[in-house]
Amino acid sequence: MTGQEIKEMDLQYNLHSWAKQGSLHPMVITKAEGIYLWDSDGKRYMDMSSELVNSNVGHGNRDIIEAIKKQADLFCFLSPAFALEPRAKLAKMVIDRMPDTMGKVFFTNGGADANENAIKIARMYTGRHKIMSRYRSYHGSSFGAGNITGEPRRYALEPGIPGFVKFFDPYVYREAVSFASEEEATRFYITKLREQVQYEGPDSIAAIVMETVTGSNGIIIPPKGYLPGVRKICDDYGIMMICDEVMGGWCRTGKMFAFENFDVKPDIVSFAKGITCGYVQLGGVAVSKKIAAFFDDHVLSCGLTYSGHPLACAAGIACLNYYDTAHILEHVNEVGAVLGEIEEGLKEKHACVGDVRYIGLWSAIELVKDKATKEALVPYGKDPDGVMSAIIKKLLAKGFFTYSHENIIMVAPPLIITEEQLREAMAIMDDVLCEVDAMIAL
Ligand code: PLP
Repeated sequence: MTGQEIKEMDLQYNLHSWAKQGSLHPMVITKAEGIYLWDSDGKRYMDMSSELVNSNVGHGNRDIIEAIKKQADLFCFLSPAFALEPRAKLAKMVIDRMPDTMGKVFFTNGGADANENAIKIARMYTGRHKIMSRYRSYHGSSFGAGNITGEPRRYALEPGIPGFVKFFDPYVYREAVSFASEEEATRFYITKLREQVQYEGPDSIAAIVMETVTGSNGIIIPPKGYLPGVRKICDDYGIMMICDEVMGGWCRTGKMFAFENFDVKPDIVSFAKGITCGYVQLGGVAVSKKIAAFFDDHVLSCGLTYSGHPLACAAGIACLNYYDTAHILEHVNEVGAVLGEIEEGLKEKHACVGDVRYIGLWSAIELVKDKATKEALVPYGKDPDGVMSAIIKKLLAKGFFTYSHENIIMVAPPLIITEEQLREAMAIMDDVLCEVDAMIAL
């Protein structure tokens, strides 16, 4: 098929995510290798968002492809009720990489159903019904995960599930007050959260769910002490602490899991994306030994036909092995430091860059109209003139593929990117930000 034919057929028969269907112009991608994508005209792009921040090992990884083929030759699918080698092995590998307090895994198809099951498990285990989560969060688009999501993508589900309560994020850059230190910021946010927990009735709260580091909504990195502060609230009131590591897990932050950066042990961890890097889709929920033991004599009322799909588990095993053998964590820390330096330089140079936030190879460039007032380049929840999509198109025209959310550009390349490739890509970003500077100066 020609590129044009693919595009026409796609638009005629596919419904695309989060979009008005009548105004779409999807790129036609025909090849992907390493950190690169090629469109049907042969133009090459650097995949600077790792697709949806899931292609951690890049495209065309032979180890993973061969593992899937080998498993496919053996058997592609058998029911989750059986004990299967790939599922058993991968569950052990997941638990081996988590804190020693964690016990077992329930596999899902992706991130949303990982969160669905995480909140179900917390409700079953505690016998309570309320779930607290934050406004600037995305946890998936299904009904439960969409209801714990705080940003506008939850609106289509409203009125939401009773007892799902939102609290404010530790978004220091946009806080109405300023703080002298990270510890002071932590005191502020934890005091407010504790107060809100009191008002909600701690005995009714099953879980507090957080993206350990907020991803799509702008790489919001909690101040020092914040997560231990949430842990303490959870411990004081018997509330389950659920860390959503769907985007932040699996080496993205320079640690295997984002929560390791903050010296905290969650009760429940949801994960997806980087466990297989999309070679076959997979997600899961890891629970503490205590929770796992509870389900020894209580029914785990969760089930999915494809829980722990053998092909996905084979891909997951190869993927986790690859992180180790290719020393991905060390690489992320080295190249991530370069990304941070470059972004600090962009913030200093460009009038349109209000803030940069980065951890490992995961970062956000927050665009403003005015650095002093911090007025966002586009208003929250709206971009009527398509300003952000025009910026993304400019990047794309120069071979830099990524996406934006609100007034934020995501920079999260595959974790195999070299320093040279990163510098080449960020020079493109620099050029485009010059154009945005010129635009806001008008
Ligand atoms: N949780 C987080 C933090 C995410 O970033 C996402 C997706 O981007 C999800 C959950 C949902 O994952 P999925 O799209 O696999 O359902």
